[in-house]
Amino acid sequence: MSKRTLIIGAGGVGSVVVQKCARVPEVFGKVVLASRTLSKCEQIAHLCDNPIETVQVDADNVQEVVALIERVRPSLLINVALPYQDLSLMEACLATKTHYMDTANYEPRDVAKFEYKWQWAYHEKFKEAGIMALLGCGFDPGVTGVYTHYAATKQFDEIHYLDIVDCNAGDHGKAFATNFNPEINIREITQPGRYWENGQWIEIPAMSIHKPIAYPGIGNRESYVLFHEELESIVKHYPSIKRARFWMTFGEKYINFLNVLQEVGMTSIKPVHYEGHDIVPLQFLKAVLPEPSSLGENYQGETSIGCQFRGIQNGKPKTFYIWNNCKHQDAYKDVRAQGISYTTGVPATTGAHLLLTGQWLKPGVYNTEEMPSDYFLPLMEHYGLKTEVSENIPLPVEVE
Ligand code: NDP
Repeated sequence: MSKRTLIIGAGGVGSVVVQKCARVPEVFGKVVLASRTLSKCEQIAHLCDNPIETVQVDADNVQEVVALIERVRPSLLINVALPYQDLSLMEACLATKTHYMDTANYEPRDVAKFEYKWQWAYHEKFKEAGIMALLGCGFDPGVTGVYTHYAATKQFDEIHYLDIVDCNAGDHGKAFATNFNPEINIREITQPGRYWENGQWIEIPAMSIHKPIAYPGIGNRESYVLFHEELESIVKHYPSIKRARFWMTFGEKYINFLNVLQEVGMTSIKPVHYEGHDIVPLQFLKAVLPEPSSLGENYQGETSIGCQFRGIQNGKPKTFYIWNNCKHQDAYKDVRAQGISYTTGVPATTGAHLLLTGQWLKPGVYNTEEMPSDYFLPLMEHYGLKTEVSENIPLPVEVE
């Protein structure tokens, strides 16, 4: 039977994954892109070097997705729709014995709370069915897990401290826009922050801990402690870690806009009754903000995402910093995308490649830090994102 890959979600990330996979038919075979809005699939098809098939689908509807899988018969379903669809797509994969992959963990629509428990609960069922679910294979989560695996197996006997640092020093020229799905992004950053310390989660008010951190090739940028989903899986899989935090940069202008939107109630996920309809303010806000996939053309500057570790090797204290810098302009030149979609889509393509060629294939539900990092890093460079490392330096996150 000829190979086929089914990709669900025709947004910013979907566009990158589809174009990258369509360039490598020997691994991905025929690419089928399905999403809620067919015209968006067709726009992406025009950007591809090789022909792809496009289909309309409602990914919340398990039966519809099962019927699509039965017709297409893909080896792998790549979910680059939204976190709300993770469970329905995993159900459809289970029913049809199809491998599954995504880039963000499940969250229920009515509570802004993302956790792995719902997806980890599928582990035994996937194992028994002989299929794999590879969770969170974007950059963060995704590459941050691979970097942790690399540090734990090649650089340390024990990791004690982990700081994940995520900087976007780019400028898209719009007054206010989010770099990935606005609804998911704003839900993530307006909830309380959380980090791991000495065996427990410490909760803090949203955006209340911040300081400037120096990023390679960029310089100091104000960075804020947030909860990010890979903290949950990484501290589970690497229990020697005493403290794990996630930092993300935000500009002053972005925070001012966000504060105003929050104060006037536009970021709320509680429905309000308006002219005979119930509408969710945050969903309405999403509808009026620019689409993440539309930001690429004039985006200047670069992203820098990495992991800073402190721990022990051969009985001696050690530091290790591993990161990638990506220029928005380079992402646009390659696949007409901005850097955030690119730094998510390239790792997703890399993980899908390794799953399909067997190096990362393991029945059950797994996070990226459980898989071998040696295969991943050179392949991710081949697809467009290079990793840099530095050992035994003062860690930028620790510099006061
Ligand atoms: P977009 O909003 O640009 O794209 C989402 C796409 O999913 C849209 O095309 C949307 O359709 C489609 N979709 C939504 N609901 C359904 C449905 N029920 N059925 C079928 N299709 C549906 O988001 P992004 O591309 O920016 O993000 C995609 C995913 O990547 C998100 O889960 C995000 O959290 C994740 N992400 C992960 C990162 C990482 O590093 N791990 C970083 C950035 C993003 P329509 O066009 O009709 O709205």
